[in-house]
Amino acid sequence: MKKLLCLLILSLLFLTGCSKKEVIKNHYDQIIQRDYIIVGIKTDSPPFGYINHETGEEEGFDIDIAKEIAKEILGSEQKIQYVSVTPNTRIEAITSGTVDMVVATMSITPQRQYLIDFSKPYYIAGQTALVPKNSNIYTFADLKDKTTLIVLGSNSEKNIRNIIPTAKIIGYKNYDEAFNALKENKADALSSDDSILAGLIINNDDFRILKNRISREYYAVGIKKDDDYRLKDNIDVVITRLHNNGKIKELKQKWNLY
Ligand code: GLU
Repeated sequence: MKKLLCLLILSLLFLTGCSKKEVIKNHYDQIIQRDYIIVGIKTDSPPFGYINHETGEEEGFDIDIAKEIAKEILGSEQKIQYVSVTPNTRIEAITSGTVDMVVATMSITPQRQYLIDFSKPYYIAGQTALVPKNSNIYTFADLKDKTTLIVLGSNSEKNIRNIIPTAKIIGYKNYDEAFNALKENKADALSSDDSILAGLIINNDDFRILKNRISREYYAVGIKKDDDYRLKDNIDVVITRLHNNGKIKELKQKWNLY
């Protein structure tokens, strides 16, 4: 009986120890203790995420969303450490804990929801394609015997394959490389979200964007799956507020988004 009691006390002590440790290790508490948020952003996708070469600062619509989150959680938009991610590295950056969150033109998809959690959406884009101005491609159907570029890790490839199973697709690591390949005539089109493609050709009249949209892309903040919802809840509070108080609309105007 004494032995049993001892065992019970020991297990109780062990369990309390564990739960205490878990609370300290919790992601949200970690951020509060660290006093800055590590955010994965794009650096090749103006106007969402890019480096302003004059100031060396990260800028864009996604960066402004990240700043609002930092203000909510830590009281200052300065308390962010940015980490550059690409479509191919952003999920791993979240699951490995390299970043606390990703704000990087990332759409909510059922496949990604197996691996990570998403906030509420903060922007809706649509997938289309960029072609040289004098190209004879006007619709996605015209791409069926052509070569299309995509960025690896984006859901652009899957969306194209859904409607054109025979499409020839070449993947690049990031948008800079993919757009350079299009400029060098290595393919007939570059497919991604309308908002990203529009950003690539801000000062370039040699290309045009197709009129069709083949998907609706709901951009959201990606975070690690966690039984403690405080981080997700805080981010959702910010996004809901930004929608309700007109700030998202204001940011869209600031960054020439529609
Ligand atoms: N929004 C799409 C996605 O999440 C394409 C753009 C991108 O990957 O950045 O896959």
